[in-house]
Amino acid sequence: MHFDLTKEQSMIRKLIRDFAEAEVAPGADHRDRTREFPKKIFNQLAELGMMGLPFPEQYGGGDADTISFAIVVEELSRVCGSTGITYSAHISLGGAPIHLFGTHEQKEKYLTPLCKGEYLGAFGLTEPNAGSDAGGTQTTATFNENKWVISGSKCFITNASYAKNLAITAVTDRSKGINGISAFIVPTDAPGFTVISNYEKMGLHSSNTTELVLENVSVSENDLLGVEGNGFKQFLATLDGGRIGIGAMAVGIAQGAYEKSLQYAKERKQFGQSLSNFQAIQFKLADMAMNIELARNMVYKAAWLKDQGRIFKKEAAMAKLYASEMCMKVCDQAVQIHGGYGYMKEYQVERFFRDAKLLEIGEGTSEVQRMVIARQIGC
Ligand SMILES: Cc1cc2nc3c(=O)[nH]c(=O)nc-3n(C[C@H](O)[C@H](O)[C@H](O)COP(=O)(O)OP(=O)(O)OC[C@H]3O[C@@H](n4cnc5c(N)ncnc54)[C@H](O)[C@@H]3O)c2cc1C
Repeated sequence: MHFDLTKEQSMIRKLIRDFAEAEVAPGADHRDRTREFPKKIFNQLAELGMMGLPFPEQYGGGDADTISFAIVVEELSRVCGSTGITYSAHISLGGAPIHLFGTHEQKEKYLTPLCKGEYLGAFGLTEPNAGSDAGGTQTTATFNENKWVISGSKCFITNASYAKNLAITAVTDRSKGINGISAFIVPTDAPGFTVISNYEKMGLHSSNTTELVLENVSVSENDLLGVEGNGFKQFLATLDGGRIGIGAMAVGIAQGAYEKSLQYAKERKQFGQSLSNFQAIQFKLADMAMNIELARNMVYKAAWLKDQGRIFKKEAAMAKLYASEMCMKVCDQAVQIHGGYGYMKEYQVERFFRDAKLLEIGEGTSEVQRMVIARQIGC
């Protein structure tokens, strides 16, 4: 057992750290204010070969491991949470279900353009009346004249305005409960499909969050993803991987907030000395450093288990839960260390604080993570 990154993982960390400092950080505050989507950054990430990082080379991917994916999410989120969530959702929610459950033809048709970065990946599970209780899906798909006809709506879907198609869930046989839910790949420009991007969010302003409305949208038999009736199970498996992405985002945002706080504490003088000379501030920074380290180890362990082909459900839920709650606390303390200036936009920790809250909600709330862990430990 050792804790060192491999040569490839270290190279990816350096590449993305440098890229994030040079290309992502400078416009992050501006994008937060204007809500401008970072399209150019994703074109650049495509040129760097990052848009299909953990997927097979056969489909244009980078054949890298999950730890490398987590490192990229972490480094992007360290300077811009919106860029971090966009990337994480593209890979772990957009590409992953096609990689895990798609046929060879579906992978060639849908995964390859995602890996090339031609458009972004997205995933539609949540509905207005089915959030934590995703088994309560109301969207329906009816088989009619060799086509599936889908009607319903989805809410809070990341990246859909920039996706040419996405996987969604729909009920194909209501009498079978969660075993009557199936997954489909649906083109976003299909007649009857509307993507609405109107939300006014607390944070992650330059990420794209949408409502989807499907009115008798037709897809072919070949667009069923995986096995009919397995959609719910497939999406739960997808979310296990997605939680590693959210955990990595939390580590990145917390790291960014901590670094800004350490720097500020050294520069800001009160009572004739730097804030960093006060033990009360030192202890806050020490706790931040320790908790970030712990969360990072948890995220990398869950990623490592996944890479070994081992069961990682419990570890992914623990990593996501611990890292997201840690991130919220670290951002709270970061604002505190900055005092009144922390409450202002200028010092950026205010943005980190707003962005962090989503991590306790998306891809399963903290309460849902505790339910998953409780089931895994045999409650
Ligand atoms: C910015 C953003 C991006 C998102 N991106 C996506 C996406 O790309 N794709 C997608 O499908 N979804 C996405 N979501 C949706 C997200 O996954 C859901 O918001 C989340 O799962 C919670 O569902 P809900 O909002 O309906 O809350 P509810 O399920 O209504 O929960 C409300 C509260 O009740 C608690 N609760 C619910 N059930 C229980 C229970 N049994 N025991 C205890 N407490 C409970 C919850 O923990 C929460 O605190 C996104 C959400 C946001 C805000």
